[in-house]
Amino acid sequence: MSEKRVTGDGRVSGSSLADLRAELREWLAAHTSPALQGLSEFEVEDTLWGQPSAPGYAEYAAFEEASRQARLICPQWPEEYGGRGFGAMETAVLAEEFAAVRMPRLTRGMGERLAGPAILAHGTREQKERFLPRILSGEDRYCQGFSEPGAGSDLAAVQTAGVVEGDELVVSGQKIWTSGAHRANVMFLLCRTDPAAPKHRGISYVLLPMRDNGITVGRLVTMAGEDEFCQEFIDGARAPLSNVIGGLNNGWRSAMTTLGSERGAVAAVAHLTYEREWSDLVDRVRERGLDGDRLVRQKLAWAYCQIHVMKATGRRVLDQIARGAELGPEASLTKIVWSEYHRRLGEIAMDVEGAAGLVRPEGDGYPLTRWQRTFLRGRAETIYAGTSEVQRRIVAQRVLGLPKDGARG
Ligand SMILES: Cc1cc2nc3c(=O)[nH]c(=O)nc-3n(C[C@H](O)[C@H](O)[C@H](O)COP(=O)(O)OP(=O)(O)OC[C@H]3O[C@@H](n4cnc5c(N)ncnc54)[C@H](O)[C@@H]3O)c2cc1C
Repeated sequence: MSEKRVTGDGRVSGSSLADLRAELREWLAAHTSPALQGLSEFEVEDTLWGQPSAPGYAEYAAFEEASRQARLICPQWPEEYGGRGFGAMETAVLAEEFAAVRMPRLTRGMGERLAGPAILAHGTREQKERFLPRILSGEDRYCQGFSEPGAGSDLAAVQTAGVVEGDELVVSGQKIWTSGAHRANVMFLLCRTDPAAPKHRGISYVLLPMRDNGITVGRLVTMAGEDEFCQEFIDGARAPLSNVIGGLNNGWRSAMTTLGSERGAVAAVAHLTYEREWSDLVDRVRERGLDGDRLVRQKLAWAYCQIHVMKATGRRVLDQIARGAELGPEASLTKIVWSEYHRRLGEIAMDVEGAAGLVRPEGDGYPLTRWQRTFLRGRAETIYAGTSEVQRRIVAQRVLGLPKDGARG
């Protein structure tokens, strides 16, 4: 298997995975900084999206630039589009090495992880050349306009209309639960372009410019008090037909590529962040003098076992990828396991916090503690990227070979 080297100037040459690991260690030794250690990529991104005067901005920006130069942003993209052509194995090694030194591996969010794979798989050469470099440079920030008030799990029920006018697509309708739409300037959106066609056909996947384009973005506050969520009222927003990925009325395939990436991306490495979090929770247990408590120990041991199950599954997934097999229902299995584990971990953390965990540290309207956030956010994790019930349906049909819902075998 040919592997890619990571060097400061982005050169690529053949080497083994072990070489790649050694090179990443060297790079990280030169770029690891206490200001960034322990932060998530989202915390760094939030600062970088804000004002340059924000605390930490200069240091984060320098790290981002170094990551970009070493081609560690979008490294799984082909070299001709600015990536390093990393496969799943190399990407997992990358995640492991960053996790080992508690450094955030910066990404370009949904542009890199969700829209990028669809553009690469279904876009024309011209589209790849036009859209991918702008994602990589950070000029374009994407959000995912799939869900609607009447179309969530049943995504093929989207009603937002796309009407062809000359060489443009004119989009009208409503999207909801759109993470980060207030920061994005492009939405990858599903709309119905042929209302007469069967449900899964007649849908198009379009990259819709968001600024000054008839889109009203409203913020929605989650129970964790965060306003990351949005809903959009779209009234005659325009995109050139050349922004339609995979061809008009043929967006379902592109949507499936995006959803596959959303569920599959973490399949091999989900355990890494959880390992770190688990050890922080053990520290918290000690701090609260609960390390002798039988119930707490039972719960921590349970969590530890789950992480090791995820690790073993991750290795199997990697092995499968290394043998050239596509990730099928394994992505659903992994999604169920990590999201339900993490929801439960949030509950355990709240047990550890005790009565103090029930109140906000500084009263209403003030930030939550880390463990309160974990608990509340965990409720969303079994919903986004496909609910647990829907994943179990996929497993029932595709792994267990049971008939479709309501059908008899
Ligand atoms: C934190 C968060 C971030 C999100 N970000 C985005 C985003 O950026 N972009 C975007 O487009 N969407 C986003 N979503 C929306 C998410 O994709 C949907 O919430 C999800 O697909 C479920 O759809 P729904 O909310 O319409 O629920 P519904 O589909 O109405 O489901 C309601 C309930 O019925 C169950 N159910 C539905 N169908 C079946 C079935 N066939 N069998 C068994 N049970 C079923 C579901 O599991 C659920 O419990 C986000 C959601 C969350 C929570």
